[in-house]
Amino acid sequence: MRPSPVTVTGAGLAGSLLGIFLARRGFAATLYERRPDMRRERVSAGRSINLALADRGIHALRQAGVIEAVQPLMIPMRGRMIHDPEGNTTLLPYGQNEREVIYSVSRAELNKLLMSEFEQRADSSIHFRHNCRGLDTTRRILKLLDEASSRAYEVRASPVIATDGASSAVRADLVRAEISRATEELLPHQYKELAIPPGPDGTHLLDANALHIWPRGGFMLIALANIDGSFTVTLFLPATGYESFASLTDASSVETFFARRFPDAFSLIPELTQDFFANPTGNMVTVHCAPWHAGGDALLLGDAAHAIVPFHGQGMNCAFEDCVVFDELLDEHDDWETLFAEFERRRRPDAEAIARMALENYVEMRDSVRNPRFQLQKTLSLELERRFPQHFIPRYSMVMFHHEIGYARALERGHVQQGILDQLTETAYEMNQVDLALAARLVHTSLEPLR
Ligand SMILES: Cc1cc2nc3c(=O)[nH]c(=O)nc-3n(C[C@H](O)[C@H](O)[C@H](O)COP(=O)(O)OP(=O)(O)OC[C@H]3O[C@@H](n4cnc5c(N)ncnc54)[C@H](O)[C@@H]3O)c2cc1C
Repeated sequence: MRPSPVTVTGAGLAGSLLGIFLARRGFAATLYERRPDMRRERVSAGRSINLALADRGIHALRQAGVIEAVQPLMIPMRGRMIHDPEGNTTLLPYGQNEREVIYSVSRAELNKLLMSEFEQRADSSIHFRHNCRGLDTTRRILKLLDEASSRAYEVRASPVIATDGASSAVRADLVRAEISRATEELLPHQYKELAIPPGPDGTHLLDANALHIWPRGGFMLIALANIDGSFTVTLFLPATGYESFASLTDASSVETFFARRFPDAFSLIPELTQDFFANPTGNMVTVHCAPWHAGGDALLLGDAAHAIVPFHGQGMNCAFEDCVVFDELLDEHDDWETLFAEFERRRRPDAEAIARMALENYVEMRDSVRNPRFQLQKTLSLELERRFPQHFIPRYSMVMFHHEIGYARALERGHVQQGILDQLTETAYEMNQVDLALAARLVHTSLEPLR
């Protein structure tokens, strides 16, 4: 594709990275971002304070030439640290070795870095506090509001790439124009962010190199380390019912709930009740939308096209992978309409697969991790990978550590693998009771070699 001007709505994680990819190829990219510039003003980066970055995201940052700059922000997490109700902990490793880890990163710092990397390139600019109010596809007009002057205005723009997140204004207009259809499935659970401050001398009060989980069946608490020695803690809880956000109405009900359900975490969160009532309660949504593009005039990318619930830690990773695929397609196509259609054809099955796996992972994190059979199956799946690396890679590892295996393929193979694990652990309670000869037969007859 020959470089030409491109308009992008939203300079969040996907928009900024996409901007870098475009600018590297000489496209003049203009980004419109609703928020003020986080690098100059103290503003919330929105949503989670830190996130898990995994192989797909790292691959994208490498392809964009920014991974070295991001590395200082990355704290490795080698497994899940499970906290039981008595305060005992067990580490369930994520992968086979120190390469198979995921990383905690600050959303704000990552976003700021990507915006700066984008702006360093010629012909690139971000208009902050410019709110996109929608897209008129018949006139090819982007509708904007300059928040500083309260001036509403319009710009001629084609193509527009919408990376304006889960509540995309561009998607809303594509639906209004009956170009796309979209559904937003709201999870009946919500989340709240809290904090464990640094210990003396800025040390972490829990193991920084693990993702901490307090699984309690119907709900859970998690904690990810930050570089300053603190942890961001997130409570995931039903919106209504017994033990829900609706039931935690005052300081005493919050303290009683935490002391009873998460006693070890309770003692580490000094500002619990202040933060609980000051911080917003967030909703989580899965967005299904089709098509993702209006001819060659507009394309939805990242959460705007396919927001997912956060339980696999993949929303950003998936959005970054979108940018890599988009960049590859710039080599293959000369017109936007074909490129957008091909982008959707390549990405939709993967986006649908990770949406499903993200929902499944909520049950795994808050409940299954406590189950001895589940733990045996996790150990067994790592053993099967060691024995049969050409055939068997645990589904979690395919998603988190193997960008060369698409999400849809991981879902499909994961399904077959789960059947094998179920069969092998039907009567086995410990690893030494597993019939490994049967395992070899099942793996070789049911699974095509991967590489
Ligand atoms: C609690 C929680 C935890 C998560 N944890 C993880 C994790 O561990 N790992 C992971 O990979 N993903 C995680 N995610 C998902 C991740 O946050 C998203 O998938 C990712 O941010 C998507 O990037 P995006 O750029 O598409 O959207 P966003 O990051 O939402 O960016 C959208 C941008 O558009 C701007 N914008 C919105 N509307 C307009 C408008 N009308 N005009 C102009 N600009 C606009 C916004 O201000 C924002 O800057 C988590 C999500 C949540 C809610």
